[in-house]
Amino acid sequence: MKDSWRRLAERLGGRLAFQAPLRELTSFRVGGPARMLARPEDVGELQELLASARRERLPFIMLGGGSNLLFDDAGFDGLVIKLGAGFAGLEGAGSLVRAGAAAASADLLAWTVARDLGGLEGLAGLPGTVGGAVAGNAGAGPEGLGRAVTRLFVLEGDGRARSIPAADLNFAYRRLEGLPERAVILEAEFALTSRPAVEIRARLAEIRERRGGQPLGGRSAGCVFKNPPSISAGRLIDECGFKGQRVGGARVSEVHANFILAENGATASDILALIDRVRQGVLARRGLALELELKVLGPGGEVRA
Ligand SMILES: Cc1cc2nc3c(=O)[nH]c(=O)nc-3n(C[C@H](O)[C@H](O)[C@H](O)COP(=O)(O)OP(=O)(O)OC[C@H]3O[C@@H](n4cnc5c(N)ncnc54)[C@H](O)[C@@H]3O)c2cc1C
Repeated sequence: MKDSWRRLAERLGGRLAFQAPLRELTSFRVGGPARMLARPEDVGELQELLASARRERLPFIMLGGGSNLLFDDAGFDGLVIKLGAGFAGLEGAGSLVRAGAAAASADLLAWTVARDLGGLEGLAGLPGTVGGAVAGNAGAGPEGLGRAVTRLFVLEGDGRARSIPAADLNFAYRRLEGLPERAVILEAEFALTSRPAVEIRARLAEIRERRGGQPLGGRSAGCVFKNPPSISAGRLIDECGFKGQRVGGARVSEVHANFILAENGATASDILALIDRVRQGVLARRGLALELELKVLGPGGEVRA
């Protein structure tokens, strides 16, 4: 271990770990260890971590709730950064709300509903954090929570803080474009609408009921594939006969064919092999190339498309 990391580890104590298991930090609960796992509690610590990673040319990745991520069985040969509770603040002035990236999406939703503020109902029942939800423009339908974002506060890869107005960003289908490369989302600002709580709660109930069609009990990472323009990916996979198919401990859900469940003994390789099988089958039978919604990371940080 280099001296700079040793010194940082002494300062951060247990909040910088080496060869740290990642499986407990993701909803699939598979995958190998991270070379390093850090849990900074403030911007200063985060800046130091980013500076060390930059100096050593070490790849880094942000981890929120790990509910949309698949790490390789070999793990991640770099630095995984999971923002600590110091980044989970929620505050508001009128209908403008600021949420820290480490805040749970569920906490943000509950906080806004308690103040009769509508606009984030798509977060109903969604696991994970605000940072992960913003980075993937998560939501209940094709439109994500990005449409309520007015501004993001980020740290760029070189450690500089910056505020980016929504006009400079593009929230596309399960994708955020316009963030500088390697930027870390610290906070998001949302413009919400004052609405009677009963209306908000009715909408939440509707969305939760729709989620009843998802296998919410098992170990999954939500939808594996994005919906092609003309048809839902789940329906397509079902029509191609993949429901219930398995590779090792990975199985295509019988409840919702766009969910892969990791069962006892499942590995990341099982899940990847099943993903490949479904993709190839759908391409061969229907001529449609499915795109991943799930973020699949290789051991060097490469993202699988
Ligand atoms: C049962 C189940 C149901 C789901 N249903 C839905 C659904 O209906 N709609 C939907 O959109 N998603 C759904 N998901 C997927 C997932 O919950 C969401 O995408 C969620 O918002 C991801 O948040 P996270 O904190 O877990 O992100 P992670 O999985 O930890 O990370 C996702 C991505 O965001 C990046 N990221 C995280 N934090 C930051 C940060 N601070 N700065 C920069 N980048 C960051 C990561 O590097 C990664 O690329 C579901 C998942 C499960 C398990």
